[in-house]
Amino acid sequence: MHEPLSEEIEVSRRILEANEQSAQRNRALFARHKVFMVNLMGSPGAGKTSLLEKTIPALQDMRVAVIEGDIEGKQDKERVEAAGAVSAVQINTYGACHLLAHQAEHAVEKLDLSAVDLLFVENVGNLVCPAEFDLGESARVMVLGVTEGADKPLKYPLMFRKSEALLLNKMDLVDLCGCDIGVLKENALRVNPDIKIIELSCRTGEGIKDWVKWLRGKMKEIQSA
Ligand code: MG
Ligand code: ZN
Repeated sequence: MHEPLSEEIEVSRRILEANEQSAQRNRALFARHKVFMVNLMGSPGAGKTSLLEKTIPALQDMRVAVIEGDIEGKQDKERVEAAGAVSAVQINTYGACHLLAHQAEHAVEKLDLSAVDLLFVENVGNLVCPAEFDLGESARVMVLGVTEGADKPLKYPLMFRKSEALLLNKMDLVDLCGCDIGVLKENALRVNPDIKIIELSCRTGEGIKDWVKWLRGKMKEIQSA
């Protein structure tokens, strides 16, 4: 690693600026169609797709669509379709480790937004840069497996800082993996005192109700604003 040169800073400033413009277009489009969009982030294997598989059937009264971001493959698209998503679009980044707003914008073109109430964008599995790129979302939510360790908020603070909710998944394994849940929460609240922490397990289904309740409340809050 080296200190960034001024040209490098200029290039990344322009990338972020262009991204912000696409994000604003997405935001306006979602507002026009009254679509609530969740940017779902977290490491590979944290349980983002498993969360969607539990969440979609719990929202029978809503039309839920999903945009799946992955480096390769369409396994997750197939899983959310099987779980009852009204439509799903796969983005393959072929190497890029996060989604850009214009990729979401192109994926959205393939959806009929007038037939969608809630849109999840499952970001590329990565605890680092997805947090830097606004996609035009209504809310950012991150999933962290308790198996990933209690120190993660301190080592990767940006995503914890930028998320409104932290879903602690794999609670069924918490005793087995020796994660100190008290320390984990303390660390998360240290980097983001406002973050809503919800413990759950996509395997057993415990806590899914709490997450769905939080999500419904958030949707109401934004839609009545
Ligand atoms: Mg996935
Ligand atoms: Zn990246």
